Amino acid sequence: MKDPIRYVRPNILSLTPYSTARDEYKGPLGIFLDANESPYDNGYNRYPDPAQKSLKERLSAIKGVAADRIFIGNGSDEAIDLCFRIFCEPRIDNAVAIAPSYGMYRVAAAINDVEMREVQLEADFSLDTERLFSVVDRQTKLLWLCSPNNPSGQCFPHTQIEEILRRFDGMVVLDEAYIDFADEPGFLGELDRRPNLIILQTLSKAWGMAGLRLGLAFSSSKVIDIFSRVKYPYNINVATQQIVSKLLEEGVDDKVREIRRERQRIERELAACPAIEQIFPSDANFVLVRTADPRDLYDQLIAARIIVRDRSRIRGCEGCLRITVGTPAENDRMLEIVKNYRHA
Ligand SMILES: *Cc1c(COP(=O)(O)O)cnc(C)c1O
Repeated sequence: MKDPIRYVRPNILSLTPYSTARDEYKGPLGIFLDANESPYDNGYNRYPDPAQKSLKERLSAIKGVAADRIFIGNGSDEAIDLCFRIFCEPRIDNAVAIAPSYGMYRVAAAINDVEMREVQLEADFSLDTERLFSVVDRQTKLLWLCSPNNPSGQCFPHTQIEEILRRFDGMVVLDEAYIDFADEPGFLGELDRRPNLIILQTLSKAWGMAGLRLGLAFSSSKVIDIFSRVKYPYNINVATQQIVSKLLEEGVDDKVREIRRERQRIERELAACPAIEQIFPSDANFVLVRTADPRDLYDQLIAARIIVRDRSRIRGCEGCLRITVGTPAENDRMLEIVKNYRHA
């Protein structure tokens, strides 16, 4: 097994990170005259814990992953950007991703001036492993996978992801934003055996905290230590740390169960609609459907003030709309429009 540190950019390896006042004094509470904060307590006058210690302990218990293998970021966006900044030398290294998939990988690559090579999925959104490796070369440092994938909704087979992890000489970033909705458990349990694996998860979907912006990366403690050194010192503010900790206590199992049940109902009922030509099997909280005139169906849904995502201009998603699973009442309203749809 190769040490993942060998893929890290030299300037990042030699970085001396910023040392905060809270890094230098970790003792008991006292009179804090070390960080030039205001002494007047309004709930937010103190800097947040840069290491997010108590939040990490809570997440560690929920995820079954040691706290020193967890990075907490300002949404998955931060972790995605950090992957490029840590592993890819601009204009020299490259990254490989599947297409269609989540648009942020490409944007973060462009911002960091890193070439992104996209490998088109098959018509059924399965992945041809040989095609993937055909664009990999010695300068490929990151390989992006998303499972369940967005916008197709399906998981790639566990054995296929295992093979990619085994064969790829670089870091595999596996985005599991929707894993809570899947039948399969995901790859957190494989972290010990796979030093070149970074798993991304988020509190934006199943956990219902999109507005709080909290994304997670899981990897070896060595890789996570590098994430911690490169991130902004106070990347998660006091309010977010407090509110997330509290919301995590409540759990979301019932809601995830309901969304999965509703997804099955939507799939069943949409399949009976003349307007729907194809439904792609989903492990996520949305379904991708193909229809003859996606723009027209989209407009009729909009007229009923139901907003779905038109993905029909994306290569591989021609004719497709992506519909997020809502509450049972919201789904009823959506289904009523699709059932009664007549071509304009
Ligand atoms: C929604 C989504 C995310 C979540 O991003 P946040 O920045 O954490 O809100 C990440 N990856 C994929 C594939 C998504 O669809």
